[in-house]
Amino acid sequence: MEELSHYINGARVKGTSGRFADVFNPATGEVQAKVPLAGVAEMDIAVAAAQAAQPAWAATNPQRRARVMMKFVHLLNENMDKLAEALSREHGKTLPDAAGDVQRGLEVVEYCIGAPELLKGDYTDSAGPGIDMYSMKQPLGVTAGITPFNFPAMIPMWMCAPAIVCGNAFILKPSERDPSVPLMLAELLEEAGLPKGIMQVVNGDKEAVDAILDNDVIQSIGFVGSTPIAEYIYGRGCANGKRVQCFGGAKNHMIIMPDADMDQAADALIGAGYGAAGERCMAISVAVPVGEETADRLVEKLVPRIEKLKVGPYTSGTDVDYGPVVTAAAKENILGLVETGVAQGAELVVDGRGFSLQGYEDGFFVGPHLFDRVTTDMDIYKKEIFGPVLSCVRAQTYEEAIGMAIDHEYGNGTAIFTRDGDTARDFANRINIGMVGINVPIPVPLAYHTFGGWKKSVFGDLNQHGPDAFKFYTRTKTVTARWPSGIKEGGEFSIPVME
Ligand code: NAD
Repeated sequence: MEELSHYINGARVKGTSGRFADVFNPATGEVQAKVPLAGVAEMDIAVAAAQAAQPAWAATNPQRRARVMMKFVHLLNENMDKLAEALSREHGKTLPDAAGDVQRGLEVVEYCIGAPELLKGDYTDSAGPGIDMYSMKQPLGVTAGITPFNFPAMIPMWMCAPAIVCGNAFILKPSERDPSVPLMLAELLEEAGLPKGIMQVVNGDKEAVDAILDNDVIQSIGFVGSTPIAEYIYGRGCANGKRVQCFGGAKNHMIIMPDADMDQAADALIGAGYGAAGERCMAISVAVPVGEETADRLVEKLVPRIEKLKVGPYTSGTDVDYGPVVTAAAKENILGLVETGVAQGAELVVDGRGFSLQGYEDGFFVGPHLFDRVTTDMDIYKKEIFGPVLSCVRAQTYEEAIGMAIDHEYGNGTAIFTRDGDTARDFANRINIGMVGINVPIPVPLAYHTFGGWKKSVFGDLNQHGPDAFKFYTRTKTVTARWPSGIKEGGEFSIPVME
């Protein structure tokens, strides 16, 4: 059985706490490795190494720091297949989807190559008589990030690339479900020329997270995961005086207007609802057709598409639409919520409950489900399912449809499908959700924009990547400078007197 490690001060280091977690191959259900779960002592060693290395890194000029990112991009491309394979093996997503996970992180690294420009400060010449004023963006020091299982390459890179290029040291506590890719990323960064101690990976669970929260040296914490944990980390981190940004769960609605291209809408829902087995924070989990006729047409188009979905292991390459969910517990949770949907009166139009894959009976596969006539009081509407389960909630009017999305506690992403510019414009203006798609089902912003939801999907003020990341990972210092003219006028030899 492979024993995974931490990555501390430039080397793979075995766990010393004596605690481990199983890392599964979700396609077969087998335990393929053990990951060490760090205690306070291991976190303290990593923090000390980070603290020792960070001042020299901060003093390295931004161009040189950016060059490390350039080389890192090159190495990510060179190792793409290896990274994608390791990612699929632990996460379960298909190989093309795993390569996409790496690619979306890589694009954030590319953005960070612009650090010399992005870190330029402001300067006011002659703010007063003989007085100049300038602002500097300085690194925070030692920073940390805690990431979820569903994007083990992209989300660590959302955080580590801007943190590091701004001159900070970064400690990553990745998900204990799929820790191999984060360890590989740390090694590639060092191969790209990063000094040791600047990027470290400390594996673990709540104990390691609490060690981050309570460590006085760590200046900032980035978190992405479920809402209850986001709320906990935000509260405790802020109380301990840290800069914290936490991103939580989601329940993303897609509104389908009667004038939408129904084939396009159905195709979009299939990819956005079932891709990655629904384990995306930007997955569409609620379809809201407006009008009974729209709903009937939509469901009629969805059913045959869902029945054709190919579910299987990543080893089948491009022949699979989605893979297993991440753990047996995740599968149980999804199927439990499906039962509540049936019990509470939703119509299960496509029933994936009996799904089993020959040769992979112990894998964590979940068949695709489609519920129709879901109502807003049902658990399958209120809770995040994070599985291949799409709920159709029929609205009679546009106002009712937008009202549902507005009233839901989550506010990560949403979409509207329509041919009417006025409706689309009204929707984009009034909706209280952070990322909006117009005839685009998964509106994930590119690296040079910022990513973030509203409402219970976020705790904190600044978004991920784009210009916000450079604000999150730096502090502004403003200098007011005045140089008295005494020196160039020469010395004063007679005794000074008051006039
Ligand atoms: P999770 O909240 O279970 O775990 C996230 C991280 O928190 C992991 O590193 C985990 O080890 C740690 N953690 C878990 N329990 C903890 C505890 N009690 N105390 C301290 N730390 C703890 O989330 P997950 O299952 O890995 O990921 C799925 C969730 O992440 C979904 O809710 C999804 O919507 C959300 N997500 C959100 C975004 C976003 O940008 N808003 C992006 C991706 C995923």
